[in-house]
Amino acid sequence: MRPLKAYIDLSALTFNLKLVKKIAKNSKVMAVLKANAYGHGLIESVKAIKSAEGIAILTIEEAAKIRKAGFKNTILLLEGLFAAEDIHQAEKLNLNIVVHNDQQMDYLSDVKLKNPINVHLKINTGMNRLGFPPDQVDYLIENLNANPNVSDVTLMTHFATADEKEGITKQLDCFNRVTNNYNFSSSVANSAALYKFPEARLDWVRPGIMLYGASPFEDISAKEIEVKPVMSLVSKIIAIQDIKKGQAVGYGSNFIAKNDMRIGIVACGYGDGYPRHAKTGTPIFVHDKTTKTVGRVSMDMLYVDLSKIEKAVIGSKVEMWGNHISVDEVAKNSGTVGYELLCNISASSRVPLDYI
Ligand SMILES: *Cc1c(COP(=O)(O)O)cnc(C)c1O
Repeated sequence: MRPLKAYIDLSALTFNLKLVKKIAKNSKVMAVLKANAYGHGLIESVKAIKSAEGIAILTIEEAAKIRKAGFKNTILLLEGLFAAEDIHQAEKLNLNIVVHNDQQMDYLSDVKLKNPINVHLKINTGMNRLGFPPDQVDYLIENLNANPNVSDVTLMTHFATADEKEGITKQLDCFNRVTNNYNFSSSVANSAALYKFPEARLDWVRPGIMLYGASPFEDISAKEIEVKPVMSLVSKIIAIQDIKKGQAVGYGSNFIAKNDMRIGIVACGYGDGYPRHAKTGTPIFVHDKTTKTVGRVSMDMLYVDLSKIEKAVIGSKVEMWGNHISVDEVAKNSGTVGYELLCNISASSRVPLDYI
């Protein structure tokens, strides 16, 4: 077996959920477990966060698995139903559904359900991804209120720039303006908003990335937020090359040694989900020290500078990210966000997830 593994520390997931609860005070927590729990494995993650008041995912199939695992609290389909007939399954599984377009409104009125369903009405306050225009909200609520297939209504929106300096003011003002006259529950905050803007916590918060121990912000680290990394991506050195000043490393020969160097070859590459765009100099932990990657990442391998790690040998442990190296740092050096790197690990399906 290749030495590459992703250790998943479920106690860190539970810890991060508790921290979110502490921060969000009286708000209920809808833990976002989409994309296979951001790459951490859906069902194992469900077990670690079973004290959350709700779980948000994308598909009926995932919802069925979560119910089967014994989760009795709220399950929300974040993008609602993808087909009219799915409503029966949603009823059977007692799911809450987002309704974000006219077609989904029709799904709700074209049937006769025994058990009315909870609806999260999604309002587009400026992100322009999913949701109804604010000026349709009164009409839609009237319609939902009159629909015997609909039980509770929750009002929701999603922020485009909660993690950036623009913040949420414009969108939150818009949301408050169109929802103020109603007494429904509301839900607007992702990780960034719930951390930074108390006024956005409302009835439900919807944390994703924070639960997995990474940061939604470019300028606030996971350490500062005090979340613990859940995933550690680890492997081993499988070869060592002693190279001379002026020699090149890897495809494209775009790294040239300025001095004699010892280069370690690590069993992990972009085919596994490590970003190919990681620049020379991306931090990586080998044996007992942080060092840096050099040269281009290959499909199954990458290169590290061992010049200052004399003790490193073939078989030495390497951490690409985890407790020593933040996934956010690797992301920054690769022009992406921690979200993508975490998701890619299980998307590659080449990296065994090992629960600890
Ligand atoms: C993914 C998602 C979240 C969670 O976002 P994080 O930035 O990971 O906290 C919340 N709400 C919606 C609608 C989402 O799609």
